Amino acid sequence: MDKIIITAAITGSRMMRDVAPHIPITPEEISQSAYEAWQAGASIVHIHVRDPETGLGSQDIDLFRRVVEYLRERTDLILSLTTSGIPGRNLPIMERLAPLALKPELASFDAGSINLGGHAFINTPEFLDEAAVMMREAGVKPEIEIFDLGMMITTLRMRQEGKLADPLHFQFVLGTPWGAPATPKAFLHLHDYLPPEATWSNIGIGAGHLPMAMMALIMGGHIRVGMEDNIYLRRGVLAKTNAELVERVVSICREYGREIATPAEARMILKL
Ligand code: ZN
Repeated sequence: MDKIIITAAITGSRMMRDVAPHIPITPEEISQSAYEAWQAGASIVHIHVRDPETGLGSQDIDLFRRVVEYLRERTDLILSLTTSGIPGRNLPIMERLAPLALKPELASFDAGSINLGGHAFINTPEFLDEAAVMMREAGVKPEIEIFDLGMMITTLRMRQEGKLADPLHFQFVLGTPWGAPATPKAFLHLHDYLPPEATWSNIGIGAGHLPMAMMALIMGGHIRVGMEDNIYLRRGVLAKTNAELVERVVSICREYGREIATPAEARMILKL
């Protein structure tokens, strides 16, 4: 089995300090938290930035640049920048894709529309086509986020049409209240549709966090943790840092006998 790649999703775009008192907000806090996640064993960080005034997600390239430059100067992390903006706000396509100008090695690619957080998170066919073209031109590998089976079917069709090129990399997002649940049965059904040569990673939202991580551990996939997806270490106990969430899965993987991929090894596994 390949070594396991740990991704840390540092902050997301919407959870505020009233529910998540330790969540990083400013570019400095996001950079520092990503740095600590790297030290704890993450080889990829998934980055959103926030408007320091409102605390909400932003696609402002200058905010992204501050985080990207900080991490490029100090770490060998693989950077995965978000293209989702604020799910539900449905920013213009070009604003969402602006971070590609910073040439991250990965960028999120949400393969369809879904209800999310009381809003519709719209990813039209036009957006997906544009994102696929711009990522190819920028040399950025899409990290294909799959919330339900329709998104997998959409991805497979785009692959068939030559819009997405093998080997694909998937990020299953299980356990949102509007998409596929974080259960082994739902996960295995999605997993059945993976095309040849694909690599994949699991996100379990909230209480699904560890169960989906364990599915990835035993089945040869990779794991994403972090405060974007889950803020608890256990019931009623908040994680104080993203590094704590990374450290926990690193320790479980080592006990199990799967070694943790360094960023250099993760680049080989993902064929970046
Ligand atoms: Zn995200």
